Amino acid sequence: MSHTFPELPYSYDSLEPYIDAKTMEVHYSKHHRTYYDKFIAAVKGTEFESAELASMFSQISQLSPALRNNGGGFYNHVLYWNCMTPNGGGAPNGQLLEAIIETFGSFAQFQQLFTDAAINTFGSGFAWLIVKDGALHVTSTSNQDNPLMDVADIQGEPILALDVWEHAYYISYQNRRPDYIEAWWNVVNWAAVSENYAVALAQGK
Ligand code: MN
Repeated sequence: MSHTFPELPYSYDSLEPYIDAKTMEVHYSKHHRTYYDKFIAAVKGTEFESAELASMFSQISQLSPALRNNGGGFYNHVLYWNCMTPNGGGAPNGQLLEAIIETFGSFAQFQQLFTDAAINTFGSGFAWLIVKDGALHVTSTSNQDNPLMDVADIQGEPILALDVWEHAYYISYQNRRPDYIEAWWNVVNWAAVSENYAVALAQGK
């Protein structure tokens, strides 16, 4: 396989009023694009040029900061975009909802735990819902690290990503990260997250 820069699955303005069009445009076409371009430059000629990102992340502690930061930035944003939709929000159903209730007590308790993880991520980073040994966990990572990396505190398969870098919310929310997170719940694509969960389980994650 080769690494390709994906199209955004919706228009820049379609997540308004929760996430503004200018933020989406700069975030996707500048921030994400730059991670991708720098990753492609860094991975060229290495054994990871046509490898799955997961295999590279699993040994990232032994690789260059360029691969870690830009490879992470490339992967993390793809998942973040795919976990949002203009017709999002609400709650999941079926298998994922049952697992969330079993693991966290209720959907509301899960939302609170995830929100706290996102708010309490110091500086730049991401909050995650992951599958580890078939179980759900909420975790967070700094900068462009992710739970597929061997440097992560809790490693597992990410199924939901939330970008809490200031570039994800500063235009509309300035320093108010909690307001951005509260708004973001309205655009979560639970159908996509449920699909990610089903795939992870089917792959024995
Ligand atoms: Mn970002």
